[in-house]
Amino acid sequence: MSAQVASPASPASPVSTRRYRFATEVVTVDNKDDPYNAASVPIYQSATFKQKGANAEGEYDYSRSGNPTRTHLENHLAKIMGAKRALAVTSGMSALDVITRLVKNGEEIIAGDDLYGGTNRLLSFLQKSQGIKTHHIDTTNSDAILPYLDPHKTRLVLLETPTNPLIKIADIPTIAAHVHAKCPNALVVVDNTMMSPYLQRPLELGADISYHSGTKYLSGHHDLMAGVIGAKEDSVADQLYYVINATGCGLGPFDCWLLLRGVKTLAVRMDKQQATARRVAQFLEDRGLKVHYPGSRKHPQYELHKRISSGPGAVLSFETGDIGISERIVEGTKLWGISVSFGCVNSLISMPCKMSHASIPAHVRAERSLPEDLIRLCVGIEDADDLLEDLDTALINSGCLLIGDKLEKLSLEQQS
Ligand SMILES: *Cc1c(COP(=O)(O)O)cnc(C)c1O
Repeated sequence: MSAQVASPASPASPVSTRRYRFATEVVTVDNKDDPYNAASVPIYQSATFKQKGANAEGEYDYSRSGNPTRTHLENHLAKIMGAKRALAVTSGMSALDVITRLVKNGEEIIAGDDLYGGTNRLLSFLQKSQGIKTHHIDTTNSDAILPYLDPHKTRLVLLETPTNPLIKIADIPTIAAHVHAKCPNALVVVDNTMMSPYLQRPLELGADISYHSGTKYLSGHHDLMAGVIGAKEDSVADQLYYVINATGCGLGPFDCWLLLRGVKTLAVRMDKQQATARRVAQFLEDRGLKVHYPGSRKHPQYELHKRISSGPGAVLSFETGDIGISERIVEGTKLWGISVSFGCVNSLISMPCKMSHASIPAHVRAERSLPEDLIRLCVGIEDADDLLEDLDTALINSGCLLIGDKLEKLSLEQQS
């Protein structure tokens, strides 16, 4: 592909529109023009592509600019995300890096106050190194954004919903309407990693860009790193593609293939993970623990989440009231691996303040009311009874269930 061309040619078809229900579309990858009718999209593990003649360019010339395996993946992801076009890059953070490069000096970003740790780090870096200011707001209140919207300055509005690990919900349609009414040049961007396109499709709710860490649910097996960006408009996708080609963060052919392979089972994995997560949430609530899960009727934004998504997902967190107890629970489980990240077929347990969110300074964690004893659970596809029994044993051995009066106090608080 020549440097002048704005976007890579598609090897087969343009993005097809969804005709079937999600679970059918996600497992159906278009590969119509394969010369041998390969059932699985081949890996074009090639950096360069030869031309037929000095003036006869083919569809591809160099894999930084475009690669057939990547195009297949991007077309498939665009279909399931309801995007005009999707782009695959080397990690979730590189997806956000590409998106934030649309912000020029003097323009501003508005983002939530309970963000993924890496997102926080990148936004602080932009502020320090390039003077690009981010206003952090409470996205559970849709009107909190109004004073910060400036038609001359606001370029990106960055939302996460549910947030991680406090599981706060943002009303995407209402916030997007506020932004578009006041700032026609601003883009509403949603990090949809926690939900996956199976449960929530921000582009259909008013967002302009939706992105994912493909490392999580999309791949599902914690065996690759990837980021995915979906755009509602071609003009936005062209700008993003320009940055990807200019900086060289397009996803390599083998990882594209792995992601295309992993994503096919997204719906079936998520169904199982979510069903078990509902049981785990109930199990913890029954023991009087304070649980953060949008599938719980006690969640303050239960109705809102239900309106904008088709399920609560498989990440939840809970409080024990004591850091030592939390540590003993985390270390006491056998089936739940102590690990950052989520979205894997295996169940994971972590203490965000000591692990994934440790890069957020302690005083900021306190400001954002992130409890130091919080335990996050990312439910996998193991047998649900085994997972519950393992957790129960760890809870009992930690002494968590022995401090009866505290639990009594907790459950009284929850009832009131
Ligand atoms: C993991 C994660 C990211 C970053 O993705 P990487 O693939 O690790 O770079 C961004 N946002 C959320 C919500 C995440 O969970």
